[in-house]
Amino acid sequence: MERYSLINEKNKREIVLLIGSGCKWKKCTFCDYHTDFNKNQDICFDINKKVLGKVTGIYNTLEVINSGSFVDLDKNTLDYIEKVCLENKINKLHFECHWLHKDDILKTKDYFKSKGITLKTKLGIETFDYYYRESFLRKGIEEKEVKNIAKYYDEVCLLQGLSGQSVEFMLKDIAIGLENFERVCVNIMVENKTYIKPDPRTIQNFIEQIYPIYKHNNRVDILLNNTDFGVGGEKDDK
Ligand code: SF4
Repeated sequence: MERYSLINEKNKREIVLLIGSGCKWKKCTFCDYHTDFNKNQDICFDINKKVLGKVTGIYNTLEVINSGSFVDLDKNTLDYIEKVCLENKINKLHFECHWLHKDDILKTKDYFKSKGITLKTKLGIETFDYYYRESFLRKGIEEKEVKNIAKYYDEVCLLQGLSGQSVEFMLKDIAIGLENFERVCVNIMVENKTYIKPDPRTIQNFIEQIYPIYKHNNRVDILLNNTDFGVGGEKDDK
């Protein structure tokens, strides 16, 4: 599995896919990547240290993802991320975090700020349509008010390419995302081990009617395939 990559367009950054103790929610109906975890902290740190060793600071920005939330990373890994940032003049760090752990976000932002690092947090909200999100995707985000979510998060991920998503539905989600957050990442559903399937008609509509509008928008990342950032794929390191 590839765990380090360089994103050379839009929000230029290095990205690492680290491994933690595992997502504490694990109930999203479309997700099979929460299986990338290890309860042994030493094994996690060993893998993470090697991956973080590839970071050069070329763009002064690092995104850390870990198939869960940053709170699932062990203390040694978190300390090592800080060390790598300071040594490589990285002043902007991106973490992902499930809504369950939102109360850990502000104090973590303050901590990194005291080190001269701006922490940006990303939420996989998938859609702002509460009922679609909670009854079909089972995301575990009980908050309906976007403003209350934006207090904690700077960026959101949307999941598109599913049945029941009209062009208007998808455009509305992107518009709400851009209105309330700094950046939006649209993930197009791909086949995985869950029973949720990508809907070819919805994906075709996205590619024909939505992709051309946003493909050059610097605030929008679009992953037509979930390995488009250069990380992920088949597991082979543990
Ligand atoms: S919160 Fe993220 S990692 Fe956890 S089950 Fe949902 S999509 Fe998967």
